[in-house]
Amino acid sequence: MVCAFRRDNGLCEPDPGATAPRQYDCCPGCGNTVRTDTHARFLRERADEIDKLAAHTPEPIGKRLRTNADQLRATADAHDAAAHPAEALA
Ligand code: SF4
Repeated sequence: MVCAFRRDNGLCEPDPGATAPRQYDCCPGCGNTVRTDTHARFLRERADEIDKLAAHTPEPIGKRLRTNADQLRATADAHDAAAHPAEALA
């Protein structure tokens, strides 16, 4: 993902007057997040890899891995639902 930094929207609580985000404190769901279709595809590919690993991992770790994979797919689905074609931005 890419951070299209706008201080007023940043969930990482940048200092007043900051010109850069506090990336080490990046928060899921921040409105400054930008993803491309490629990012969404990578999220789904990683989710599939995690599910394969989970299939060979004892519980409760396997369950946590599947939850993580589901979250990655949900993020990719959210991208697809809100995505704007590049042509629409020109
Ligand atoms: S929370 Fe993450 S996406 Fe949002 S401004 Fe901070 S670094 Fe950027």
